[in-house]
Amino acid sequence: MKVFFHHDFFREYTADPAAEKGRLEPAYQVLKGRYPIADAIPCADSDILLVHTRSHLESVKRTPIVYDLAALAVGTAIAAAESAINGEMAFALCRPPGHHASPDHSWGFCYFNNVAIAVKRLLDAGKITSALVVDFDLHYGDGTVNSFQGDNRVTYWQGQSSKNFVQQMRAFLEQTESDLIAVSAGFDRHVRDWGGMLSTGDYGSIGSLLGTFSREKCGGRLFAVLEGGYNSLSMAESIQLFLQGLDTFS
Ligand SMILES: [Zn+2]
Repeated sequence: MKVFFHHDFFREYTADPAAEKGRLEPAYQVLKGRYPIADAIPCADSDILLVHTRSHLESVKRTPIVYDLAALAVGTAIAAAESAINGEMAFALCRPPGHHASPDHSWGFCYFNNVAIAVKRLLDAGKITSALVVDFDLHYGDGTVNSFQGDNRVTYWQGQSSKNFVQQMRAFLEQTESDLIAVSAGFDRHVRDWGGMLSTGDYGSIGSLLGTFSREKCGGRLFAVLEGGYNSLSMAESIQLFLQGLDTFS
């Protein structure tokens, strides 16, 4: 397991909950020392254009600090995806999040679709022929769905908001096959976050389910990218258990 990050993600870049001061520090502290942490680099505009329109790219560029960090977040997701292809699971600790970013517009604290761009890049390079995107954020990843509209190489899954979320995920994975699994890892379903639903231990169970699926059906090719999560302390401990879970057989 490898973590990709950049210290610029500690910068505040706008006034929204995903950009809030101090949001990533507890997670970074928990992961530091447990996993190798590699510096990511910004993606190229040509990567962004794999999913987004030029007019959307230009509109984000009008706020340079947002563009810089959003391009760095995409670069972090791409690095995690390449690591997965090269045989090591990886987690991208980054912001802004991406799953509400559609080809030509974005909302919900998102600008560029980190996961969609990283997956599209692997598909276009012929490194995979299919991908499963599992999104366990509290919110529906409309941007990811719009990014792969009509593309039957990519399956998007997000469970319903209910107490048996983990069982729903297990049942879905049992009847699914894919070359790679990309995880939109949002932690805002936590009992101490907006969703008020999942325990810290549930994130460990989710990690274990996804890690096992990836080893049994995708040759271990899995990467995860941070989406939401607004209680920085419960997010940090949930990320830790999720990553531990990925390395555990269920
Ligand atoms: Zn969310």
